[in-house]
Amino acid sequence: MPRRAATDAAPPAAEAPAVPLGFSPESYAAQARWEKRFLEMPDAARCEKYLRRLTRRPHVAGTPGDRRGVEYIYDEFKRAGLNPEIVEYRVLLSYPKKVAVELVGPARVKLANPEPPIPGDRDTRVSDPMVQMPWAAYSPSADLTRPVVYVNYGNGEDYEQLAKLGVSVKDNLVLARYFHGYRGGKGLEAERRGAAGIIVYSDPAEDGAPQGKVYPDGPWGPPGHFQRGAVVYDFLVPGDPLTPGWPSTSTARRLPPEDAKILPKIPMVPLSAADAEEILKRLDGPEAPKGWQGGLGLTYRLGGDAVKVHVALQMENRVTPIWNVVARIPGCVEPEKLVILGNHHDAWVYGAVDPASGTASMLETARALGQLLKEGFRPRRTIVLGNWDAEEYTLTGSTEWGEQFADDLRKNAVVCLNVDASTSGQDFTVAAVPSLIPAVVEAAQAVRDPATGQSVYERWAERRRERSVRSYAGPGSAAGPVPFGLLGGGSDYMVFLQHNGVPALDMIFDGPYGVYHSVYDDFAWMARFGDPGFRYHAAMSRLWGLLALRFANADLLPLDYSIYAREVAAYLEGLEKIPPADFFADTVRPLIEECRDWQDAAARVTARLEAWRGGAAVAAASSPPTSETTHGDEDDLSRLVGIAATARINSALMAEERALLDDEGIPGRPWFRHLIYAPLASYEAETLPGLREALEAGDLDRARQQAARLRAALDRAIAVLKASSSETAGPRNPR
Ligand SMILES: [Zn+2]
Repeated sequence: MPRRAATDAAPPAAEAPAVPLGFSPESYAAQARWEKRFLEMPDAARCEKYLRRLTRRPHVAGTPGDRRGVEYIYDEFKRAGLNPEIVEYRVLLSYPKKVAVELVGPARVKLANPEPPIPGDRDTRVSDPMVQMPWAAYSPSADLTRPVVYVNYGNGEDYEQLAKLGVSVKDNLVLARYFHGYRGGKGLEAERRGAAGIIVYSDPAEDGAPQGKVYPDGPWGPPGHFQRGAVVYDFLVPGDPLTPGWPSTSTARRLPPEDAKILPKIPMVPLSAADAEEILKRLDGPEAPKGWQGGLGLTYRLGGDAVKVHVALQMENRVTPIWNVVARIPGCVEPEKLVILGNHHDAWVYGAVDPASGTASMLETARALGQLLKEGFRPRRTIVLGNWDAEEYTLTGSTEWGEQFADDLRKNAVVCLNVDASTSGQDFTVAAVPSLIPAVVEAAQAVRDPATGQSVYERWAERRRERSVRSYAGPGSAAGPVPFGLLGGGSDYMVFLQHNGVPALDMIFDGPYGVYHSVYDDFAWMARFGDPGFRYHAAMSRLWGLLALRFANADLLPLDYSIYAREVAAYLEGLEKIPPADFFADTVRPLIEECRDWQDAAARVTARLEAWRGGAAVAAASSPPTSETTHGDEDDLSRLVGIAATARINSALMAEERALLDDEGIPGRPWFRHLIYAPLASYEAETLPGLREALEAGDLDRARQQAARLRAALDRAIAVLKASSSETAGPRNPR
């Protein structure tokens, strides 16, 4: 039974600042009323209803099930009072026709079995062959019989260890466990090492019984579950493999498939732990190293002569329509400026967590925003709700849209607030560019954590001692540091941040989740384990919508580049451990100095935001015509000065992330134009990718070129900030 949602909308915790960053006390008066009204609306029971609808049938991108989901989202946006459109692209997708895997020696055992149905969860009883088969999208077709080598996670260092042990994978099938890397990276590594094909499987050590109770008794993966997914090298360039860098409109030029750089050359198939065990228990080669032993309760061995496996795959790649659903709430003061909320709707099966939880949260955010519109609210800037298709393939729908509208986005996009899955548990987790963290902290302070009654922020800050990439100390005395991650690969923010330089974040309420990309990621799993009562779905609607309302309406954009500058300096410091030492001293040190300048220039702008929040500095600028703030006491001149000053600061703040782009991109993968963040093949974030990769390759000429590009980017970032503050009087309290 869902508990009453009303309690979740109670007033926020005390540590939230009276006026959020980017507003003045006067301008926040009207905003605060709209925020309060907004936060009352998201409703857990309605999120449950959306999720039930969104997960009613399998909806792989480009299939009839996907199209029905698209129409449902379109209808719900319309019902919310928004004006959605369906944006179609024609892209290369991949589907399985036949997947057969069999152990042929020393015994004959049929593998690649369907996921067993769970009593009491009728969604897991499936007859659709595409749902029954384990498959990896874009795998080439194959028919081969080979010995098998177990390669641990199948990462570079695993193959190096195998080579040291004298084990060759050449022309064999390799068997790799999932996790510690993305499947595309595992595929590419196997291809480079000369393997004939790769089998990936879900070892219980990572997502099964050793972690806790398995479904239907707990949230972890039962032995028969397998993880579908795409095997594609989208860390080289995401989006439709046939249109790298340009949009897949119906008339677009397309590469012949054999020229597509991101398609794998060797076959891949995923197996369940139960099926992989049939192979692993029969391997008769040398014992695998200690760290390679998994959770199956047998001795893992590297290979040997006994085992032969037959893999027969018939895959079909075809150019087919996909559909983004995009709704805009037009801004009334700066309609050209875009605050973008992103989520995707395609799933490998039902995708209750990934991504339907996020879609349910988005629909509820849309409904609440629509209700505000009916009550007279008008945002200052345009809010865009982008519900993308085919994310699971190559982040396809968002990438094509981001390529089609690149000029507009580079000019006008303020922020991209991405939520893929919104809920698999209760732990608020965010990955973001550092400039966004203060705004996220303040939003999290204003939203209640459903289970504890604390603010989302307080509960997040309690986890500060956990392992995390970075941490940020929030504003105000009550604020402790909170952990945040960096953006690498694996969701729809990529085209916004890494191609177009739009500040981006990705957030989720995280939790134990062992059924990723399996048939068991369904409504019953969510209702029992992920979010019983659906209150975290509603909490995400609140957070997401609140951030949107603040970025859409703030007088000064709540972006803090002094934190960003400090972060980049820290990444540069981290290069010290890559030799040669004199390169660091001569070339990297000056860049760190440059970051200090950047930090100083940014701190002056942040002081201005703080002063604005405190009611000082430039005169109150504009506010939405329908808002209830009045500026009647101000003479026209001071009001004009205020508008000019805020516009100048805002355009400087918007130019910051763009300044970090380089038109030539990272060497070897020019689609990635951001000099600070790119994805690794593992999907993790790589900082300073161009410079780091050159240094790691020992190519000092290239490293010097990359350092020069980085210096130019930092110069640009500093120059725009300095220009924005030199022309106006400083705030009352500059420090
Ligand atoms: Zn997803």
